[in-house]
Amino acid sequence: MSAADDPAPFDRPTSPADQGASSADDALVRKALATLLRDHPPGETPTAAFLGARFDAGLAWVSFPPGRGGMGLSPGLQTVVEAELRRAGAPNEADRNVIGYGMAAPTILAHGTEAQQDRFLRPLFTGEEIWCQLFSEPGAGSDVAGLSTRAVRDGDEWVVNGQKVWTTLAHTARWGLLVARTDPDVPKHRGLTYFVVDMHGPGVEVRPLRQITGEAEFNEVFFSDVRIPDTDRLDAVGAGWRVATTTLMNERVAIGGGVPARSSGVIQEAMRVWGETPPHTDAQRERLMRLWVEAEVARLTNMRARAMRRAGTPGPEGSVAKLKGAELNKRVYELCVDLMGMQGTLFPTHYEMRRPDRASFSGGADVRHNFLRSRANSIEGGTSEIMRNILGERVLGLPGEPRADKDLPWSQVPRS
Ligand SMILES: Cc1cc2nc3c(=O)[nH]c(=O)nc-3n(C[C@H](O)[C@H](O)[C@H](O)COP(=O)(O)OP(=O)(O)OC[C@H]3O[C@@H](n4cnc5c(N)ncnc54)[C@H](O)[C@@H]3O)c2cc1C
Repeated sequence: MSAADDPAPFDRPTSPADQGASSADDALVRKALATLLRDHPPGETPTAAFLGARFDAGLAWVSFPPGRGGMGLSPGLQTVVEAELRRAGAPNEADRNVIGYGMAAPTILAHGTEAQQDRFLRPLFTGEEIWCQLFSEPGAGSDVAGLSTRAVRDGDEWVVNGQKVWTTLAHTARWGLLVARTDPDVPKHRGLTYFVVDMHGPGVEVRPLRQITGEAEFNEVFFSDVRIPDTDRLDAVGAGWRVATTTLMNERVAIGGGVPARSSGVIQEAMRVWGETPPHTDAQRERLMRLWVEAEVARLTNMRARAMRRAGTPGPEGSVAKLKGAELNKRVYELCVDLMGMQGTLFPTHYEMRRPDRASFSGGADVRHNFLRSRANSIEGGTSEIMRNILGERVLGLPGEPRADKDLPWSQVPRS
């Protein structure tokens, strides 16, 4: 095993059936890919133009319907698309618009009107409009259904007041996915409504929050009498929890459900550090081997989950991916800094404050930076404890936690 091994044979699915697809569908996708690459050579086409053409060809998200960036095919075929385009050196805005791609797009597809889908999906995919997710609040994280930000109807508009926190990329976002309380007098899950909010509109204030890495990927966001047209509401008044669930289920897959090439990504970094920092002990070798095997098992599990999934919102298997990915990243980077010895304790920069234009769930910079960033993996997108709760209840069928406030009107639930 070496970092120099050619990952390509493992990057390509062995057969269409591996992707839950027929040979005919596989051929359809490959033909569309060949046409896209012929008519819009990646090296010569500006990023937004290439991604616009990719969207129009139905190759943005193959499981989406035609006209909405897809071809109505098995989501497993997305692996074929990503691998072929990566090989061709095609541009990608998935990192810069991670919440747009992973959460906003599937949520808008599942709950948006035709007009909303027409308006939002294409510029989201081309990266011309970045998205953020406005769920968490100072008093509502794991228990996000308990949130307090209020939206009050005023004719054809809603007036929003409140505060969100930990909002990744709010400083680059044009649009935000906002859940707000529209009826405080019903139980917490039933009084929520979901909106798309213009982050450049009056009354929206974004303030950076500095992380352990020294950077501020995320922010606090304050809403003071922010007006949202009712046409920017997603789904029915009071259906906010249902819509939020779609976002959260997709978030888990977006964070942990990737299918990278074999031996690539985080584990590749560990192998590189191993190569640069001999000599090592047998115990360290065993740690690396175990982590490599776990990374491969996680990758194959994600590949299988993607192939088995039909189009639509992912199920609780997304929590497996999220939990495993988070715990694995943390352990891989722990090994990396251990292998580096004293060098592992030095920070690579002067710890200056930066506001990155992308969220680095994993990798992307110096391993010592990544070690610090990986601490957030078991918090963001739902903590590891919450993932275990979901798996216990929804996959293993264990008894649920006692929920004393479930049927109480939100306004009567004690809050600090
Ligand atoms: C890097 C990063 C980026 C983020 N980006 C966003 C974003 O873009 N948008 C957004 O809305 N939010 C974002 N978040 C917020 C994230 O979703 C919350 O931090 C997370 O859901 C936990 O909520 P909390 O911080 O309020 O902790 P709490 O919910 O207060 O949890 C505190 C501790 O208690 C445990 N706990 C809580 N409830 C239970 C339970 N029922 N059973 C067992 N243990 C429990 C938790 O696991 C945790 O260990 C981000 C967070 C991070 C770290």
